[in-house]
Amino acid sequence: MIFSEIQIREFKEILLKMEMDATILLDSLNVKINPVGLDPVIDHQKRGGAEDQETAKAQVIRTETQLALAKAALKRIETGAYGYCVQCEEAMDLDRLKKRPEASRCLECQQKISRRR
Ligand SMILES: [Zn+2]
Repeated sequence: MIFSEIQIREFKEILLKMEMDATILLDSLNVKINPVGLDPVIDHQKRGGAEDQETAKAQVIRTETQLALAKAALKRIETGAYGYCVQCEEAMDLDRLKKRPEASRCLECQQKISRRR
């Protein structure tokens, strides 16, 4: 483990909050996309327009990604792999993790992937 217990605990708290926020947000977005018990015609207003739906769907995908990243990072904390790049297995920059605690790759590997897209 490259970080102190205190640092790990801090990251864990941030990630747990991230996980919780994403879960709550997903719940509310799912209600918007797929309202339970609302008549699709009569309650069209309540559901918002088609544009709203598209925005909400895009938001769901983003939030699901965020949730998966937070969960994966929490798992890496449990296994002691947290802080190491999943790609090159080098220790990651503390500053990078402070900005993106859910990051699984070092900046270099992340940039390589982004360039490939
Ligand atoms: Zn790397």
